[in-house]
Amino acid sequence: MLYIGNFKMDIPTENYIAELENIDKCGEELWLALPYPYLSKYAQNLERAGIVMGAQNVTSAVVKESTGEVSAEMLLDVGCAFTLVGHSERRKDKGETYGRIVEKCQQALAKGLNVVLCVGESREDYENGNTSRVLEKQLREVLTTLKEINYNNFIIAYEPIWAIGTGLIPSIDEIEVVVRHIKSMTEKWAKSELRVLYGGSLKANNAKLLKSADGVDGFLIGGACKKVDELQKIIKA
Ligand code: PEP
Repeated sequence: MLYIGNFKMDIPTENYIAELENIDKCGEELWLALPYPYLSKYAQNLERAGIVMGAQNVTSAVVKESTGEVSAEMLLDVGCAFTLVGHSERRKDKGETYGRIVEKCQQALAKGLNVVLCVGESREDYENGNTSRVLEKQLREVLTTLKEINYNNFIIAYEPIWAIGTGLIPSIDEIEVVVRHIKSMTEKWAKSELRVLYGGSLKANNAKLLKSADGVDGFLIGGACKKVDELQKIIKA
């Protein structure tokens, strides 16, 4: 299983990182997406702990005259191995259009950074039975446009927007259906079966249940990754 923590805009303290260095990964993969200012600061700690470091975003800009942007080269230079792309909080608030998401994926993958592409439907689309249609659009736009990239470095995180930070989760049946659908789309358009993670209100108390979902290759974890004991319980569940 692959567990990816998304630290969002919180400050990762030295205490937190020290505790994290002692986490028992139980032989699983643990990745952590830190805010940009803390990447260099904690790169060595995470490396020592065997935790893969990544970013929460990457620029789509190609010219160096792009004030305030952070490129894939910069992320690699400070020790990142991956970046999230298209998190719903960025799609919603930061003008992250389909075109921009494709550009980000293309550039990051071309430079050798792993990409974790976040997809997921809104509550309205979920309630109207439009989940498949929304996911198909989100994935088709990216997978049919990317060129000459290594799909081994590409992971999809299914995150229903209505489940993020709300304490709500889909049923196991619903997750299994969606994950199967996503995998079939990746086979069709990327010609390979990509890893698919689930994200949204995963906690210690529902980890065992969510881990029972067939076909899920791991989890993207927001709130619960910020407490090491909770993260530890999730990994052990
Ligand atoms: C997320 O924002 O990617 C996420 C999964 O958040 P949470 O676990 O807090 O729902």
